[in-house]
Amino acid sequence: MANEINRQWILRRRPKGKLQESDFEFRETPLPEPGPGQVLTRTLYLSLDPANRMWMNAAPSYRPPVEVGGPMDGFTVAQVVASNDPSFQPGDLVESENGWQDYAVLPAARVVKVRPRSPLSHRVSVYGVTGLTAYFGLLEIGRPQAGETVVVSGAAGATGSVAGQIARIKGSRVVGIAGTDEKCRWLTDDLGFAAAINYKTEQVGKALPGCCPDGIDVYFDNVGGETLQAAMFNMNRGGRIVCCGAVSSYDSGQWNSPVGVPGLLIQRRFRMEGFIVLDYYDRREAAEDELVAWVNDGRLISREDIIDGLEQAPRALIGLLHGENIGKRMIRVAPDP
Ligand code: NAP
Repeated sequence: MANEINRQWILRRRPKGKLQESDFEFRETPLPEPGPGQVLTRTLYLSLDPANRMWMNAAPSYRPPVEVGGPMDGFTVAQVVASNDPSFQPGDLVESENGWQDYAVLPAARVVKVRPRSPLSHRVSVYGVTGLTAYFGLLEIGRPQAGETVVVSGAAGATGSVAGQIARIKGSRVVGIAGTDEKCRWLTDDLGFAAAINYKTEQVGKALPGCCPDGIDVYFDNVGGETLQAAMFNMNRGGRIVCCGAVSSYDSGQWNSPVGVPGLLIQRRFRMEGFIVLDYYDRREAAEDELVAWVNDGRLISREDIIDGLEQAPRALIGLLHGENIGKRMIRVAPDP
């Protein structure tokens, strides 16, 4: 153990505009030692999330910005290697924020023991942050009813693909918006969406009325900007917009906000509500049990885009922001135990 090294990706500088590989630096450091009340964890899977890009900005968000010169932040599934806290034993499987590195020393209070799942990668995707985001955002804010029309943007991504399938399970008619024909075909052919719009080749504002002849009751918004604007013009009275994310703005440094707020909200009497998944974590075990049941009975498909090797992290995050992924993109940092 003593001779092992800890590979890290360091944030070299705050990105200006689009994220570049040169915004990061690869470094090797000695393995850290846990102090009193701390645990040493080994990263197994590193989740790549569009919000990682936002965390690199100096502007405050729902969490402090990543420190320049320090390891890049990131959600991880990890295994305890050594523990100086009685609640953790070597071998325990945990969720933690190890960041972009092989090992991290963390206070025990910032590490959460989790049940093993098969495959383990589902802990990062459908049973992790993105699956739970889809679950709580859709069911707590969107509250889709049988027969209603639900539109999801970023629909072939990790969160969108789960949100759309849960809406389908609840008996809604689901329309997806995604960035390639291959993604759109996957939504309709494999996931049971009623229709899909390629926002790169079609004008969403023109395509939505044809795909949603009864209007939109729930819009699950992952992207913000022009797509949100187009959805707002098609909302039904009493409709709900779930403000989950605004990925169209993250890599541009500019917030593309829709116009017509509050006018459209007033005329059409719909609601918009934002949330952060962590707000619901006290209920995550029950949500996870329901997601497990849907996956096990084949009603919920979890597609994963797993890239091997920590060294790939910057390239893989840049690709995610450019829409390379279908389903949940993550890095396998170490083999499953
Ligand atoms: P993801 O959807 O798997 O990946 C990001 C996708 O965004 C890409 O595949 C790309 O697909 C799409 N995209 C990129 N640039 C775009 C643009 N300019 N316009 C429209 N789409 C664009 O990522 P995810 O982790 O599931 O995250 C989806 C959203 O959920 C993000 O906004 C994220 O911040 C949000 N989120 C929120 C919470 C919360 O607690 N509120 C938690 C987790 C995630 P295309 O090919 O379709 O463009």
